[in-house]
Amino acid sequence: MAQPQTREWRSTLTVWSPDDLDAADRELLREAHEAASKAYAPYSLFQVGGAVCLEDGTVVRGSNQENMAYPSGMCGERVAVFAAGAQHPGAVMRAVAIVSPSPKAIADAFMPCGGCRQVLVEAERRQGQPLRVILQVRDEDVMISESAVNLMPFAFEAHGLGGQES
Ligand SMILES: [Zn+2]
Repeated sequence: MAQPQTREWRSTLTVWSPDDLDAADRELLREAHEAASKAYAPYSLFQVGGAVCLEDGTVVRGSNQENMAYPSGMCGERVAVFAAGAQHPGAVMRAVAIVSPSPKAIADAFMPCGGCRQVLVEAERRQGQPLRVILQVRDEDVMISESAVNLMPFAFEAHGLGGQES
């Protein structure tokens, strides 16, 4: 019997002591923590902040915004990325820092949810340049992905869904 072909995906993160980060990454993390302090997360008690750094250095913040109708809420990183898209359409997003101060957050397993990864991948594809993702729980070690697609194996793609490339 013929063996099927395989398709593999290798995903690599770097792990940093906060003290070893460059100043720009440290500053973006600080912005994300500031954003997290403004989260509205009365249901999960899992505050998340996101800070997007645009190519001109502008930082756009977001935080999770929950709702008593649970699915109506929105993740912090997605709020930040959508806010950046809304306020600075067409601007290249160089990096997004995503953090949580919550004691519930697990440092090694703090990742954007699947939906947010899809959003990050599309932002990256639209701009044609890598979107770095910088992750931190509290003041613990920092994980960095040099691109969004690195976090989203076999991401959904389509041609001709009826829309227009923009
Ligand atoms: Zn999410």
